[in-house]
Amino acid sequence: MKEIVVVSGKGGTGKTSVCASLAVLAAPAVVADCDVDAADMHLLLSPEVGGEVEFRSGHSAVIDPAKCTACGKCLELCRFGAVVKSAEDRYLIDPVGCEGCSVCDASLSF
Ligand code: SF4
Repeated sequence: MKEIVVVSGKGGTGKTSVCASLAVLAAPAVVADCDVDAADMHLLLSPEVGGEVEFRSGHSAVIDPAKCTACGKCLELCRFGAVVKSAEDRYLIDPVGCEGCSVCDASLSF
């Protein structure tokens, strides 16, 4: 069995297109699209799907109301705009916007 691994540090450079092209040339081939954010090679290859499972990765921030002093530092530090201030002056995390980078983690030094 031969293995070919295509890696790159940046999205949008064409790794999926290169891999899909190689898969077509090497057919029959077993292909694993291991992109953690957007595995989308199936859009190019229309494979027979053998099974599906829910997959979650990374972390999402959670504000512990017992510890939050409402200092606003998390809102200031989050570069994804995932911390919002409610009309009641409470800080909330947008779970869709949160990238889980931990910059807002109060246990880390700023
Ligand atoms: S973990 Fe990162 S992305 Fe998520 S709310 Fe905190 S600073 Fe923003």
